[in-house]
Amino acid sequence: MTVDCLFCKIAAGQIPAVIVYEDEKIIAINDINPAAPVHVLLIPKEHIASLADINEQHSPLLAHIQLIASKLAKDLKITEQGYRLVNNCGIWGGQTVLHLHYHLLGGRELSWPPG
Ligand code: AMP
Ligand code: ZN
Repeated sequence: MTVDCLFCKIAAGQIPAVIVYEDEKIIAINDINPAAPVHVLLIPKEHIASLADINEQHSPLLAHIQLIASKLAKDLKITEQGYRLVNNCGIWGGQTVLHLHYHLLGGRELSWPPG
């Protein structure tokens, strides 16, 4: 756990969040400022600052996140209409919390390209 990291604190139960899924590797929470009717954040418990900081050892974790995202999408009933799984990386990518996470967005039609 990294001191002063918001998502490390949420994963450790030190800051409250609405947890929609948890296992030994990841936690999934409702985004506090949802951009769509379904807006879930999938967060590894291990502190990784961003997608720019991964290496081959993270491959099973990254595969696990996508598998759980797919399962959660089914549970949240957004699979039939479709949804988006997003990672914002770095300043120009729009990343504001420097702990790797993926946004699962659904429940409305999403435009493309992003702003
Ligand atoms: P990003 O801009 O990709 O780094 O995404 C960070 C996300 O974290 C934003 O969508 C925020 O709304 C969300 N967020 C910030 N603080 C919290 C919190 N305490 N609980 C849940 N989501 C949060
Ligand atoms: Zn962290």
